[in-house]
This record gives sequence, structure tokens and C-alpha cells, in this order.
Amino acid sequence: MSKVSEYWHGIPRKDIPWYPTVDKNKCIGCGLCFVTCGRNVYEIKNGKADVVNPYNCLVGCTTCETVCPVGAISFPDKELIHKIEKEYAILRVVQEERKKKGTKLELSKARSEAEKIVSQSPHRAEFVIAGHILEKDIPKKLLDLVSQCSCDIVNFKLETPSLKVCFDEKAPSSATFTLVSQKFEDVTECVEKIDKLLEQNNVVVVEHKKIS
Ligand code: SF4
Ligand code: SF4
Repeated sequence: MSKVSEYWHGIPRKDIPWYPTVDKNKCIGCGLCFVTCGRNVYEIKNGKADVVNPYNCLVGCTTCETVCPVGAISFPDKELIHKIEKEYAILRVVQEERKKKGTKLELSKARSEAEKIVSQSPHRAEFVIAGHILEKDIPKKLLDLVSQCSCDIVNFKLETPSLKVCFDEKAPSSATFTLVSQKFEDVTECVEKIDKLLEQNNVVVVEHKKIS
């Protein structure tokens, strides 16, 4: 079943009377609405469709009405939704949701791009490092370094015991990352430069694996 929320863009779902009504005189009990709906709105009882979870219905959806072969399902007029949208001024909430969704989408695209680069790259090196990674601004320093080598660092994952502990008590953190060549060339030279940079910043290379 798809995820059912108690809210619709910040409005309690139960404040929105959007759900199907079945005309039992027309219903032939074919079950198409029951099997089509992914939100458990229907059950078939005594050979007829019964709306058992009306507020599970997705606001604005009319799929079951469309597929019902005998026109037994009806919905309120869509003006009802427009009225509620205005009444609750939902556009500000929607804008925030849009931003979040956009960011998640960009993250997921960037992740699959990184995975593609790793899978296509014959030469790469994997690092596990530990030290004062944030305090020493290591991510930025690494970025500056690899930009000069036509390389990139993908899947950079930072793990800290806690941000406060890292900044206030100067506890070490750890990170893993993969170095890849954007030109699919050998990465040995860049690996050596990274090792030197880490050493200069007292960051320890816990594990080092070169794949070529
Ligand atoms: S699709 Fe229509 S006819 Fe078939 S069970 Fe549902 S309401 Fe009844
Ligand atoms: S309109 Fe969509 S969500 Fe609502 S009951 Fe019908 S199929 Fe399910």
C-alpha cells in the first residue's frame, strides 16, 4: 500500500471531504475499484464495493471512478479542492515541499552519476581516513587538489561522534571516499598528492586501496 498521510500539504486530511461514494444500486461487485486502489479505501462486502477507509483516498485522485465499468462511483466537484487550497493558503507549504523534493531529486541524480563514474572507472583508489577532518577543512582542500589533477572524489562519507564533540572537544572524525580519474587515467600521482596533503594535516590514512 502506498504511504497514507494524516495531512495533505499541512491540512488535516479529515478536514477534506474528498473520497468516493458508491451507488450500490449500480455496483455489480466486479472488484475493479478494490484491486485498482493502492490505498485500501475499498472492501467488497456482500458482493458490493464498500468505502471502508474514505480518508485514505488521495486528494484529487479519481482513478476508481474512471475505471468503474458501470459508473457507480462518484466524487465531489473538484471546486471543493480549489476552495480548500485558497482557504488554507497552502501555496507557501507547497513551495517548501517543492524545494525539499527538488533537493532530494538532485541528490539522487548526483548519487547515480557518482555510481556510474565509479563503475566505469578502471583506475580508482579508496580511502578510509581519520583525524580532525572538519576542523582542518579537509573536504575543501581535497577538492582543490583533485581539481588540479583532472580527478574527482566520489561517495565522500563523513562520520563524526557528534558535531559538538568534533568542534568543541576536538575529537577526531573519520571519512571514506573514492578517488576516480575523470579521464579514466591512472590515479597514482593524485593518490601520492592526497597522501602528502593528509600527512601535512595530521590526518591518518587508516586504509588505502588502489584499484587499477
Ligand atoms: S468498480 Fe464499480 S462496479 Fe466494480 S466493484 Fe467497484 S463500484 Fe462496483
Ligand atoms: S480515487 Fe484513487 S485513491 Fe481514492 S479511492 Fe479511488 S483509486 Fe483509491
